[in-house]
Order: sequence, then C-alpha cells, then structure tokens
Amino acid sequence: MVEKGQYKDIILSIDEENIKCADCGKENPIKVSVNNGIILCEGCALQHLELGPNVSYIRDLSGEFDEYLLNYFTLGGNSKFKRFLKEENVDTSLPINKKYLTRACEFYRINLKKKVQGGELLKKNYENPNEIVENMENNFPEFEDYVIKHQKQNKEQTLGKAKKIIGNIGSGLFSFGKKVYSGVKQGANYVAVKAQPATNKIKKGAVFMGHQVGGVYTNIKNKIISKNKGEQKEKETENVEIKKEEKVDEEKKEENEVKEEEKKEEIKNEENNGAGILLNNPSINNESSQEKKGEQ
Ligand SMILES: [Zn+2]
Repeated sequence: MVEKGQYKDIILSIDEENIKCADCGKENPIKVSVNNGIILCEGCALQHLELGPNVSYIRDLSGEFDEYLLNYFTLGGNSKFKRFLKEENVDTSLPINKKYLTRACEFYRINLKKKVQGGELLKKNYENPNEIVENMENNFPEFEDYVIKHQKQNKEQTLGKAKKIIGNIGSGLFSFGKKVYSGVKQGANYVAVKAQPATNKIKKGAVFMGHQVGGVYTNIKNKIISKNKGEQKEKETENVEIKKEEKVDEEKKEENEVKEEEKKEEIKNEENNGAGILLNNPSINNESSQEKKGEQ
C-alpha cells in the first residue's frame, strides 16, 4: 500500500519530463491533469480548471490517488503527451482553453483512457488536429463523481481542521476562564481575609452582648425562681390552714353527731318512762275496755 505523499514521488519518477509543467515548462509542478496524464504548474492548472473535469481533471500532486487515477500517469506522462502533440502538429502556442479542446487532444485523452481500462484503441478519426471540438461528448463521467467525492473529503478535512481550531480556541477560553476564576477566587479570599477582623469584632461583640444578656437572663431567672418558691410556700401554708379547718369541721361534726345520739337516747328514755306510767295505771285500762264494750 502506498502511503500518503508517496504518490508524488511515484508520479515524478515515472517520467523524467514530469519534473516540469507540461504547458509552460516551469519546474517543480504541484498539480496534475489526470485524464491528460500530465503534470502542471499551479498557474496552468488554474486555466485547466475552467475546462471542467471532462477535458481536464485537476488534482494536487501531493494528494492521494487510487489505482485507476495512478494508471493515467504510469501509461501517460509529460514526455508521451508532448511527443504526441509534436507528432500530430498540434499548435502548442494555442492558449490552454483552446489547445485542450482540439480534435488531437480529445483523441489522445480517449485513447489514454482505453489504455488504462484495457480497451481497443481508437484509430485516427480527424484531418485537422487543431480543429476545436464543439459539443464535446462526456468521455469522463467518472471524474464528475471524483470531483464530488473529493470536494466532500476536502470539506470534512476543512471541518476537521476548523473543529481542531475551535477546540483549541475553546480550550484556550477554558484556561482563560480558569485564570479569571482563580483570580476572582483569590480576590474573594483577600476580601474574606480583610473581612475576618471585622467578623471577629462582631463575634466578640456578640459574645460580650451574650454575657450581658446572660447576666440579665440569670437575674430574671433567679427572680422568677424565688417568686415561684415564695408562691409555693404560700400555697403550702394555705393548704395546711385549709386542712386544719377541715379537721375542726370534722371534730365539730362528730361532736354534733354524739350530741344528737345522746338527745335521741334521752327522748327514748323519756318515752319508755311515760309508757311505764300508763301501763301501770289501771283506770286508764278500764276506761278503754268499757268504751270497747259499748261499741259492740
Ligand atoms: Zn505551467
């Protein structure tokens, strides 16, 4: 497998004429025209681009090539192309946008493709090699696909580079943000250090106030306790007095009850004594028996 960048060395080594531009002869060419199998300088390649990939498919010499593209250079090359132009009497003084549209150049491209693909070669089908081909057929539709594919690859590469740049900017911003943050943090720490004595003062004041308040609180507390104690004592003495009164009442009650019982007994005794008198009186008994007899 050919590594990236090695295609250039292969293409340049195939043909000794490949070290110079096929159009202007300038050294150190950097572009290629695949379907013409030639190496070009940047200026000439720019003029080729206007012709479109059907006439001249331009690629970077330092780029990547697949086997199909590479075969245009192993079977073509600057020497063969220039020799053909000379043999066919193509007017090499023609500007690029005319020279590559001639009948001879179209014939050369089609036959180079046939060599690459292994098909039967065309026989010479023109009388005037410098005749400009109008309404040229699309002999290289595959290169339109290559252009689209290559543009996509370039876009992805550009996007990748852009992402990398954005990533770098992002990480730069991140480290900048980090610095700002640490700066702000340090500032905050400084403010905190400055504020600490004030905090201590407030703290000390609060403690002092606490002591003061604590003193007042203790005083109030003691007062309340002593007040409560006094009230309790008063209550206790009240209770004792009430109990004493209750005792007195109970004693009185008992006294009364005893007195009442004594009275009852006195009355009973008196009654008994009375009856004893009546029973022992015969006159009373007689009277009552007479009355009873009279009623019968
Ligand atoms: Zn050139």
